[in-house]
Amino acid sequence: MGQRHDLRCSKCGYEIDALLGIGMMYAKSNIFEGEKPMLAELVDDTEITNRALKAVAAGEKISDDYGHEFYACPEDFYLFDKFHFKIGDMEPEYHCPYCDNFLQRVTFAKGSAGKTRLKFVDQSKFWQCPRCGNDEMVEVKFGNWD
Ligand SMILES: [Zn+2]
Ligand SMILES: [Zn+2]
Repeated sequence: MGQRHDLRCSKCGYEIDALLGIGMMYAKSNIFEGEKPMLAELVDDTEITNRALKAVAAGEKISDDYGHEFYACPEDFYLFDKFHFKIGDMEPEYHCPYCDNFLQRVTFAKGSAGKTRLKFVDQSKFWQCPRCGNDEMVEVKFGNWD
């Protein structure tokens, strides 16, 4: 089961309603194998999908910890929920729709009481709001999805 996070900037109200994790149908065989692998829909990028399915066909190992994760642009900080996976050495690289950078994964970090921050997974850098520069968010809604 996945989690649904509705996060809002604690100052200006910039918001993302994100689905993270995996759903009931997300068995490896449904996503990466068969006639119509779900990957195409989850990734929504033909080039990434083709590269991934080619790697699977070549017998590369699919990591178990795939699922939707938070991504942010390291430059303009817009947030997205994108499907992350790893096949052999390959991980998807998603382009920021607003600039030339690739999106980077971000993860939950501790904020002040009742608030949350997001930290870039591969860098010691925190996310900040693309609109106002504030770096804390409030969880306005949290739930599960399947
Ligand atoms: Zn803001
Ligand atoms: Zn960008």
